[in-house]
This record gives sequence, structure tokens and C-alpha cells, in this order.
Amino acid sequence: MSEFDVIIVGGGIAGASLGAEIAATRRTLIIEAEDQCGYHSTGRSAAFFLESYGGADVAKLSKASRDFLKCPPQDFADVGFLHMRGDLHVTEDDLPDLPRQVETRVVERSELEKMVPGIRPKWRRALFEPGCADIDVAALHAAFLRRFRRDSGIISTRSRLVAARRSTAGWVLDLASGEQVKASVLVDAAGAWADNVARDCGVAPLGIAPKRRTMVQLRVGRSGIKDLPLVDDSKGSFYFKGEGDRTVWLSPHDEIESDPCDAAPEEIDVATAIDRFEGVVDWPIERVERSWAGLRSFAPDRLPVYGFDAHEPGFFWCAGQGGFGIQTSPAAAKMAASLLLDEAPDPMVAEVSAAPFLPSRFG
Ligand SMILES: Cc1cc2nc3c(=O)[nH]c(=O)nc-3n(C[C@H](O)[C@H](O)[C@H](O)COP(=O)(O)OP(=O)(O)OC[C@H]3O[C@@H](n4cnc5c(N)ncnc54)[C@H](O)[C@@H]3O)c2cc1C
Repeated sequence: MSEFDVIIVGGGIAGASLGAEIAATRRTLIIEAEDQCGYHSTGRSAAFFLESYGGADVAKLSKASRDFLKCPPQDFADVGFLHMRGDLHVTEDDLPDLPRQVETRVVERSELEKMVPGIRPKWRRALFEPGCADIDVAALHAAFLRRFRRDSGIISTRSRLVAARRSTAGWVLDLASGEQVKASVLVDAAGAWADNVARDCGVAPLGIAPKRRTMVQLRVGRSGIKDLPLVDDSKGSFYFKGEGDRTVWLSPHDEIESDPCDAAPEEIDVATAIDRFEGVVDWPIERVERSWAGLRSFAPDRLPVYGFDAHEPGFFWCAGQGGFGIQTSPAAAKMAASLLLDEAPDPMVAEVSAAPFLPSRFG
């Protein structure tokens, strides 16, 4: 039976980024149920960095990740992962209340018309967040996996955990293939399946709930939209961003309860997205080029969960990354690694308290 110091369940951005931080000092295996890492939420995101997103505590993780994403260390990647775009939080009435540390400025109607040509008259003003950027998610995920492998980490795809037992000698994991593997520490980075994995290991679930979000790629009868700011509304009912010269990525900002699964878009959600989009700009819609859906998984308080389980030593949570798992991944992985290795926090997260993210907050 192969033996490791740490086995990480899940090869999405959460498992890959944490793996990249610990593989140099711990013999680490990532097991991924699918044929490829990143098949689920990580491969389906809207791919933006928005510091104000997710509330004040999440904003600290996003902010701490920003420099790394913008200008990564040379041994991690040759070029940065961010492409600046800016975000307009448009409103019909009151401006949104964003975390205070986030840089913003008010944009009145006349400027708004110039920034988003064709915006409908009911959108009176906006809060502009200049720091919003696109993230090259595939490149970032690949870079974490590359570092993990470079430091002797092993990735095993088509390896689904079905059960695990813990004895004084550590965990014994049963894989769907019939194989068994052993580790001292088991990391639950299973995204939408985080609670299922906990149950399969005899650990009490925390209430990590997957919620489906729909994305639509629309072709519109207007060109020159590729680099316009991301546009969302202060009430959270849509967002869209230019993708090509005449295409946008659009979401109805849906959050539909779901079991963990290979999520697919529902027609009604695509229709809702289009209906809301037509209420924002007068750009003629030519066709839906494609649509997809993914699961965003939230703990009951909507903060991510990093740290050892309060009742089962050796079971480490790395879950509940909601809609911010990509943009927070560099700092979150550093913080999670320091908790797992029982080391002082990396300077990147020296200013970020881990307390709000510990599993012990649930008792
Ligand atoms: C539509 C959409 C838009 C989003 N937009 C953004 C955005 O703009 N910016 C941002 O930062 N975030 C965004 N997110 C959120 C982000 O994608 C997630 O927070 C992040 O991908 C979660 O990563 P993960 O590794 O936890 O999950 P996943 O990528 O889902 O990885 C978990 C992995 O665990 C594996 N697994 C599960 N059970 C087992 C098992 N028993 N054995 C082995 N493997 C198992 C799964 O196969 C899966 O590959 C978005 C998400 C969605 C769905």
C-alpha cells in the first residue's frame, strides 16, 4: 500500500494550490475523481478578480492574493495572470455598500453612458472598482499543478475516494479502483462534494452547500465591447463582461440549491439571464453561442473553511470557496499551508487572521 504524509482529495484550484505549498516538505498525493483536474467548478468560473466580492473577510484574502496574481514569482510563471478590466456596479437608486478598504469612485450617468455605450436610462449611476481584472484561470491552475509536481507531488486522476478510516497509524483510504492508500493527514478539497467526503471518512459534515450558477456566451449586434468594464448591479441580479469583439459572458447571478453533480444549465436560467441583460443595454442579441453551469459551494456563514476538523485530528478542511475560490487561491493556500504544517504564516497572509475561517467556528 502506498503511503504519504498528506493526501488531498480533489484536484481543483483548492487542492492544487494547497498541494503546491506543501509538496516540498510533505510527501503529498492529490487524488482526483475525474479524468482531469479542474473539470468541475475550477473549469467553469467567470474568471474575474473582484476585491469587493464576498464581504470584508474574503476581501482580505483577495487583496493578499493580488500581487501574486499580477506579478507571480519567476519560478512560478513567466507572466502574470491578471488582465485589468474594472467593474461598474450600476444602480437605479442607492450605491452599493462595499468593504471600506476597496478602492472605488462614483460614476454619474453622463460618464456611465460613455463607459457602457447603449446602457438603458434607468441605470442612473455606478460605483467603479478599477482593480477588477480577468484571471487566466487555466494558466493559474496549471502553474499550481506544475509547482506541485516539481516538488515531487503526485497526482492520480480517475481516483475517487469512497471511504476512509483512521487508526493510530493514520488514514487508510479506499479508492473506487479497489486500491488503498495511506496518509497521516487527509485534506478535504472536494468542492461541492466536501460534506460527502467528510461523511465517507466518518467526519461530521459542516453544511457545505453547492449552489448552481449559470453562464451564457451571447453574440450581440454591437462590436468593440471586449474590453468594457465588467457590469453588475448593486442588487446582485446579473453580471456580464465582454469576451470577444461581439460576444459577452453573462450570468443571471443565480444561486440554485443543488446536489453535488456535473452541473448543466437549465433553459429557464438562460432565459432569465437574457431577459435581465436586455434590461441593461440596448445591444441586439444575435444568438446564444454556448452556456454552461457550475457549482459554487458555501459554508453556512458563506466564509471558506480552512483548518483541522475540531473533532477529528488529521482531517483538514479546505472547502466552501463559494464564488471567490480562484481569486483568493494564492493567499488561501498560504494560510491553509501554515495551519496544516503548524508554521508561522507566510508574509503574504501575515495581516490576515485565520480565525474567521477555522472549522472550529461551527462548534
Ligand atoms: C459559474 C461560476 C462562476 C465563478 N466565477 C468565479 C470568479 O469569477 N472568480 C473566482 O474567484 N471564483 C469564481 N467561481 C468560484 C470558483 O470556481 C470556485 O470557488 C473554485 O473553483 C472551487 O475550487 P475547488 O477546487 O474547491 O472545487 P472544484 O474545482 O470543483 O474541485 C473539486 C474536485 O474534487 C473532486 N472530488 C470530489 N469528490 C471526490 C472524491 N470522492 N474523490 C476524489 N476527488 C473528488 C472533484 O472531481 C473536483 O474536481 C465561480 C464558480 C462558478 C461555478
